[in-house]
Amino acid sequence: MYKSLTKTLSFLLTWFGAGWLALPFIAESMLRYVPEEGSVNFAASFALAGVSFLLSLLCFIHSVTAKPVKIQYKHVYRCPKCDNEIFPGTEYCPYCGSFIK
Ligand SMILES: [Zn+2]
Repeated sequence: MYKSLTKTLSFLLTWFGAGWLALPFIAESMLRYVPEEGSVNFAASFALAGVSFLLSLLCFIHSVTAKPVKIQYKHVYRCPKCDNEIFPGTEYCPYCGSFIK
């Protein structure tokens, strides 16, 4: 995974976790205005918040410890005469048939 992506994801999941954590309190305050007795599932909300925080923590650790991704470019051999891509070690160009040193 890319470093910048996990950093963004870490913040996003923290926000997500905070949202789940705040949800039962918002729901409860809303249910006060409802005459009927309503129950708020605190456990599920806290579990989701916990999972979100755990994931954000893992992403944050990864973003801190992960080394920047190095893109290694393949060395491409080209025919000096026709400039076509050839395999390294090829003596004769398969495209134009010229001899390669
Ligand atoms: Zn060639």
